[in-house]
Amino acid sequence: MIKYNSKEVEEKWKKYWEKEKIYKFNGKSKKPVFSIDTPPPTVSGKMHMGHAFSYAQEDFIVRFQRMFTGNVFYPFGTDDNGLPTERLVERLNKVKSKQMLREKFIDLCLKTLKKITPEFIKDWKDLGISADYDVCYSTIDRNSQRISQKSFIELYNKSEVYKKEFPTIWCPACQTSIAQAELEDKDFDALFSTLKFKCDDKDLLIATTRPELLGACVAIFVHPDDKRYKKLIGKKAKVPLFNHEVPIIQDKSAEIEKGTGVLMVCSYGDKFDVDAINRHKLKPRIVLNKDGSLNLGNYEGLGIKGARKKILEDLKQADLIKQQKQIAHVVNVHDKCGTAIEFLETEQWFIKILDKKKKFVEQGKKINWHPKFMYKRYGNWVRGLEWDWSISRERHFGIPIPVWYCNECKKTILPDEKELPVDPLQTKKKCSCGGQAIPEEKVLDTWATSSLTPEITSSLINNKVQTPYSLRPQAHDIIRTWAFYTVVKSWLHKKKLPWKNVMVSGFVRLRGEKMSKSKGNVVEPQKVMSEFGSDALRFWAAGSRLGEDVDYQEKDLIAGKKFITKLFNASKFVFMNLKNYKPKKIKLLETDRLFLSKLNKLIEICTESFKNYEYSKVKLEASNFFWHLFCDNYLEVVKKRVYNGTKQEKESAFFTLYNSLLIILKLMAPITPFIAEEIYQNFFKKTQKHRSIHVSEWPKKIKISQNKEDLKLFDEIIKFNSFVWKKKKEKSISLRDEISGIKVPKNLIKFEKDLIATHNII
Ligand SMILES: [Zn+2]
Ligand SMILES: [Zn+2]
Repeated sequence: MIKYNSKEVEEKWKKYWEKEKIYKFNGKSKKPVFSIDTPPPTVSGKMHMGHAFSYAQEDFIVRFQRMFTGNVFYPFGTDDNGLPTERLVERLNKVKSKQMLREKFIDLCLKTLKKITPEFIKDWKDLGISADYDVCYSTIDRNSQRISQKSFIELYNKSEVYKKEFPTIWCPACQTSIAQAELEDKDFDALFSTLKFKCDDKDLLIATTRPELLGACVAIFVHPDDKRYKKLIGKKAKVPLFNHEVPIIQDKSAEIEKGTGVLMVCSYGDKFDVDAINRHKLKPRIVLNKDGSLNLGNYEGLGIKGARKKILEDLKQADLIKQQKQIAHVVNVHDKCGTAIEFLETEQWFIKILDKKKKFVEQGKKINWHPKFMYKRYGNWVRGLEWDWSISRERHFGIPIPVWYCNECKKTILPDEKELPVDPLQTKKKCSCGGQAIPEEKVLDTWATSSLTPEITSSLINNKVQTPYSLRPQAHDIIRTWAFYTVVKSWLHKKKLPWKNVMVSGFVRLRGEKMSKSKGNVVEPQKVMSEFGSDALRFWAAGSRLGEDVDYQEKDLIAGKKFITKLFNASKFVFMNLKNYKPKKIKLLETDRLFLSKLNKLIEICTESFKNYEYSKVKLEASNFFWHLFCDNYLEVVKKRVYNGTKQEKESAFFTLYNSLLIILKLMAPITPFIAEEIYQNFFKKTQKHRSIHVSEWPKKIKISQNKEDLKLFDEIIKFNSFVWKKKKEKSISLRDEISGIKVPKNLIKFEKDLIATHNII
């Protein structure tokens, strides 16, 4: 037998699909469109295993819908407006973005991306992701810039965007403001020091992990019910080492039980401080520079850690520390660099979201989340929001905020829509008062653009498909960013949902650990595809339910490869006997009718499962059916009839073999598209009208008479087969050998002829 060569076969059909434009979106079709808001991967290297896993899962659903509804809009894009692309372009071109004009650097990015993107996308094509690659965007291309800037202007005109000087979450390493959604919790060891403040010349003890902020202390809080400190309220306390005086204020936020019960309020230790200072209208003392260094006396220029160390030494020398202990505590860090964040007063642009939290929760509830529990992550996140969405970044690379400020009348000037995209740094503007316009230097946060992916892809096909799209596929770690912000933008612009369904994939692990380069436990999908085939990789990705994390295990790939080989060999066997078969209506034999009623049940299960995003159930049911019912039992039962039967017996078997194999192929086509195409083109193309199995119709139940008992009865046949095979094994005779002393049970008497032939019963 010829061996199945996955490499050759997959390469062949990949080229065919591309050449024949099998996955091209048909804007003229009258059929309802199933539209996908495809996640744009970041061009920063190669596809990794997590990509392969989640994109395969999304493709299962898309391929099913293409066959089921007949019209799919599945665009593709890349996300290139963030740090990874900036670094990549710098590395490839040996430049530094900050030493270039922003406009020139973006041009260089676009040129570089044009060169490297096809190679990058190749991995997705290799995996069989059935997107329409002709509808392709980059989040930094001119069209995306235009749409992103237009969104900003529209929201500005609706007063949904505002600029404010405000203590915002700041990453001192990246030197930019960041959003709440970019924070992660990290455990740190810290020294908890109880310090001696002075009030009325007596010690007032306050415990803190952040002595470097003593210079920024602006008040002391005690609880109004705390008897120990009642008499101090209204007095002033002297800050150790820095010796400035701060008011002692009663405030319920000071917890009597916590530490010494006295709280120091600094500008700004955390979000609490920001609120406290606003609430009591205190004057902030700013001690931190943008790079996280101190701007204060002896400590000027020291970084946070250095300053902390020096201040603790000085406190110790001045005998201002009462007690110290080591504690572990959770700190907010920037998710991109792991640096502990600070709060700095800077001027930033925000989108108003806090005033619409309820609305966004409501909108989220209207979306069908797959799996359902993923909604919780969305809901919890929105309810817990404490900040408006900060959309400006101090970075050099990115989509410019399209704004100028008049240096005379201080007016904010925005461009006309027809000027977009615009880089204010490169475009001179005059104010209507005659004053010079000063350009805004900041750029938009990447999410401010990727939250518009439905608008971007819609614009590429003359808005023939509009929101709400049918589906947003994505990973769970970006529910609070990509999913949430897209809901926000869609509501603010159109009062609509961006999509009807969200499917959320899990992560891939290796022996329980997240794959990462730094841990050295990375398995590359390119290697796996070349060794086992893309179908096998997809077969593995179909093995876990949507939203579940999965452990990568080679045995699953081997199982996939086995299934594919078996499918290939079984088809060859079937068509050896069906050479010039043409499908036609015939009178079915009872065994065949029974088997087809089992097949009808399978179609029902698989269709419902795919509709509910339960592709893993389809894989399980269809592959089990194929191995067990089709190969192990049905093929064995009809073999003799196929070789030696009467005309009617043969015709009934041919009809059943032809249709059941075609249906099994179609049910598995979304999961293992290459082998399905190979078998379809080799054996079914002559008698089926479609250019590809992937644009053929989803199988419908075969019209046969059916009654309740059918399904159970076929199970009885399977049971009987197993029984005979076991007997033969016990007698150490081959399955083909004659056997005597066995009676076909009464309830199977209608199938006696097939069963006697199958087992060679004498
Ligand atoms: Zn950072
Ligand atoms: Zn002016």
